[in-house]
Amino acid sequence: MLPRIDHVIEKAKAYNPSSDSKLLQKAYLFSAYAHEGQLRLSGEPYLVHPLAVTDILADLKADDIALVAGLLHDVVEDNHQVSLAEIEKRFGAEVAHIVDGVTKIEEKVPLQNRQEDEWATLRKLVLAMVDDIRVILVKLADRLHNLRTMQAMPEHRRPVKALETLEIYAPIAYRLGMGKMKIELEDLGFRYAWPEEYERLQAALQEKRAYSQDFIEETTAELYKMLKQTGISGDVSGRTKHLYSIWLKLRRQGIGVEQVYDYMAFRLLVESVQDCYAVLGGIHSLWKPIPGRFKDFIALPKENHYRSLHTSVVGIHGQPFELQIRTHQMHQEAENGIAAHWQYKEGRLSKEDETATTQWLRQLTEWKQEGGTPGEFIQNLRVDLFPKDVYVFTPKGRVLSFPRGATPIDFAYAIHTDVGHHCVGAKVNGKLIPLKTPLKSGDRVDIVTSPSGKPSRDWLKAAVTGRALSKIKAWLNVQEKTRAIELGKAALERELRRLKVNLKEAEEEGLLAKALKSVSLPDVDSLWAEIGYGKLSARLFARKLAPREEEAPVLTKAAGPPGASEPALEVRGASDLLTTLAKCCRPIRGDEIIGFISRGRGLMVHRADCPNVARLGYNSDRIMQVNWGSGGPATTHDVSLDIQVEDKPGIVAAITQAVADAKAPLRAIEGNVDGRGEGSVRLTIAIRDKTHLNAILAQFAKMPGILEVHRRNR
Ligand code: MN
Repeated sequence: MLPRIDHVIEKAKAYNPSSDSKLLQKAYLFSAYAHEGQLRLSGEPYLVHPLAVTDILADLKADDIALVAGLLHDVVEDNHQVSLAEIEKRFGAEVAHIVDGVTKIEEKVPLQNRQEDEWATLRKLVLAMVDDIRVILVKLADRLHNLRTMQAMPEHRRPVKALETLEIYAPIAYRLGMGKMKIELEDLGFRYAWPEEYERLQAALQEKRAYSQDFIEETTAELYKMLKQTGISGDVSGRTKHLYSIWLKLRRQGIGVEQVYDYMAFRLLVESVQDCYAVLGGIHSLWKPIPGRFKDFIALPKENHYRSLHTSVVGIHGQPFELQIRTHQMHQEAENGIAAHWQYKEGRLSKEDETATTQWLRQLTEWKQEGGTPGEFIQNLRVDLFPKDVYVFTPKGRVLSFPRGATPIDFAYAIHTDVGHHCVGAKVNGKLIPLKTPLKSGDRVDIVTSPSGKPSRDWLKAAVTGRALSKIKAWLNVQEKTRAIELGKAALERELRRLKVNLKEAEEEGLLAKALKSVSLPDVDSLWAEIGYGKLSARLFARKLAPREEEAPVLTKAAGPPGASEPALEVRGASDLLTTLAKCCRPIRGDEIIGFISRGRGLMVHRADCPNVARLGYNSDRIMQVNWGSGGPATTHDVSLDIQVEDKPGIVAAITQAVADAKAPLRAIEGNVDGRGEGSVRLTIAIRDKTHLNAILAQFAKMPGILEVHRRNR
């Protein structure tokens, strides 16, 4: 629902009885006049925006000056008919000053990169804030509303604004103790900076949410019961943690969403500090606290003045969750931070309201007065805004930030991947230091590289940034894989030589593909790597490629043995080729056959329906037409048959009898019974030709008890 000026006026009256409704009304009308005819990207009248910003300011319980500035914050920028002087004349110097400050923050000076751009924005923001804290309040409210309505902005422009929000505005809101603002800025910033990851996390949490709802209700009831028993009055609320904080945790710990357990948090608001500790005792006697997770920010407030007790426990059904315990007053301050201390005069906080935050602002003022370079100012500021980071300089004076504990290795990879891969040392403030020395804020770092330098495994212990770690790991993996492939290739070749197997031929016959499939590997490279890593035995694999029985050409040169007048095989176009019957399909005389020229091995004769022929078929210039010759020696072929039978006495004897009657010598026989009345018999017999085989098959077909017969390929 769109805010209306009377609602904002009412809201202001409620927390500030001396609020000047007429002044607000006047500012609203002036804003309406200045923005007349302008539309937002969403197509709404532009006036909606300053009104919404002012509504957010009223939620922060801002004073009239800030509310008026909120209504007018875009007037000068968007309507060049309106000058600052006019605003000053109509609404006073303070309002004009704030509007000027807010406008100037947006002005961009051309800079080299986004990071410098951001730091320039940050500096302007903080300098303006030091002059009048209300500048930043208006700016934060402005940014929040722009993000809330970002859907209307073209997609390609969203990430820049969103990242700037995450890197500048949310940390400032946090530093000013405005927890609620910070969380909303972060979730919206996350959503538009990394939309896909946002969606994915959102969906992944959806499942957990359904469970969470019941859990939150149950636990809330338990907590109220505990409050009643301890005789303390308080409010309990439960929620799932905000998406951005969960996402940061996933990234920090390199885990998947299914490994996040403490994604729920509860808050207990009570009357007094004593109550906080009493309630903490009640909770710890109800559920087991997780060691190391209790934090007393009441006795030791955070640098942004945040006060609360934090603990994590293992709750109902073993589900861990976090609890924050604080007084209503502390909560008010934690939600709105500096905006909760509304006793400041003329935008400066009063002496009586001395907090860590006001001290910080005072300190910023001093830095500003002391002068110094913008770089130094920003460095100080960033140390303050991001206390867990270190800020160091490149030789050219660029500032780079790293998590605490970062070393020159991280620095080198931040400059360029190649600088990282080849770094051999580092000069910090002119002195050579070991690569594993942690950097300190203010260090000037110069990386020494050498063409022969390369990453080593123990760098993984020295680096802390994700970028350096992933680059080092990737480099090591490539190195190791290359090495493994070399080793694996040598090992396999050794085994193949021993078994007298030619890899090329095994490939042409399809044996290699089959063997690779049997160990679920896609190609020879990964086979070598697998052997090299020691995950697969070269000997076992080589055996898969070796022929089962002694290698012997079943047939023949095209010329038959002495005495035979006709050749066993006729090969069209090349009569003196060495021909061999392929072992993959074992053709027998009478089968439809096809010839395939194989390197160094003459002509391989396959059955026309052999799967390997189909596989090799695209290479049609290597295929030759062949026919069975009319002559040839009285050779036999071993043929294997799989016979499905009924499990009844005498069946195997009947089969062997039939084979003997057909004069097909039995080479091997093996039987199995499945226990459900059926069995299978595998039979290898010596067959003269296809006619011979067909006769036997016909015989089997007539026999009672035989269900199915298949000719096997090998
Ligand atoms: Mn605006």
